[in-house]
Amino acid sequence: MPLTATLPKTNEHGFYEMRMESIGGLGANVAGKIFAEAGVLGMGFNGVNFSSYGAEKKGTPVKTFVRFCDPRQHIRIAAPVEFPHMLIVFHENLLATGKALTHGMAHDTTVIVNSKHPVDKVREVVGMCGGGLGVVDAIGIAVDEGSRPNTVLLGAMTKASGFMDPEAVRRAISHNLAKYPRMLPGNLKAFDRGFQELELTEYACSIKHPPEPPPRFVSPLGYENAPMGGAITNPGNTMLRDLTPSRTGYIPQFFPEDCINDGHCEYTCPDYCFTFEKGIDRKGKEGMINLGIDYRYCKGCLRCVQACPTEALRKAVEDEDYVREHTVPQLGRKEW
Ligand code: SF4
Ligand code: SF4
Repeated sequence: MPLTATLPKTNEHGFYEMRMESIGGLGANVAGKIFAEAGVLGMGFNGVNFSSYGAEKKGTPVKTFVRFCDPRQHIRIAAPVEFPHMLIVFHENLLATGKALTHGMAHDTTVIVNSKHPVDKVREVVGMCGGGLGVVDAIGIAVDEGSRPNTVLLGAMTKASGFMDPEAVRRAISHNLAKYPRMLPGNLKAFDRGFQELELTEYACSIKHPPEPPPRFVSPLGYENAPMGGAITNPGNTMLRDLTPSRTGYIPQFFPEDCINDGHCEYTCPDYCFTFEKGIDRKGKEGMINLGIDYRYCKGCLRCVQACPTEALRKAVEDEDYVREHTVPQLGRKEW
């Protein structure tokens, strides 16, 4: 395949590098695969793509990396991308996890964020020094088009890159969705909208947000002070984890007037999101009463909606205000 474009910039090793920061369920792994396939098989670059993610399909952090270079160059680096030319944040709520997410940004890094908010507001949250910042409402578009957020972000990435051929990416999407022909039109439409609706702004470098080097993790434990036998003395838990970013535009809405407190939702929910409390039901009997959902732990799988026999749980498009007003914090968990 002859090379059909040139890379706008490369690092000292000759690579154009990208890092996608995501959470399981938003499709970053597949997006990286499609983007790399488009660049290598569709445009003639040499390239590589790989991801790091946790064991669970939804709700765990995902990092996806893409490297492109000249086709005559060998790729002998398999390390994560620390200083990306393009950084893509698959959900704005991930920015709350702090600098570890956005580390390695330089004055000319292009950042893309899936967000509904205006670009200037997003810039403050990202804390970027300078460079291009693109914002696109990937979840809103995905809900409209019946796609996943990743194809919207592929459109945004293609436009922001300035060198990727949209037709090559469209072909790679079609190839990867060949097994699901019914999903293809919506995903291609979502790709086009991501490309068209990306709002990209260039910022001059600001001293308010100086670039920061990537953090180096230094373990507090070493051979002198590690517990005998490698015992874990402080086991972690997920009590404070917020799974909000792993939802892809839909939530279960709870209608207590239709609830018969049979607990099917609670048995089905993989994340124990329901808040039950001892009380009196509508027939005057003592029992456990379903008070509602703690949405911080809800990853939007909607299994509870399928399990509910009375339609007391219904699928709905997510609305931030609704979620904030209707979350029922569980005992022992911090307030919203
Ligand atoms: S959608 Fe329902 S089953 Fe899935 S995590 Fe949320 S509350 Fe639990
Ligand atoms: S499954 Fe439906 S009816 Fe049963 S407790 Fe849950 S919400 Fe209520």
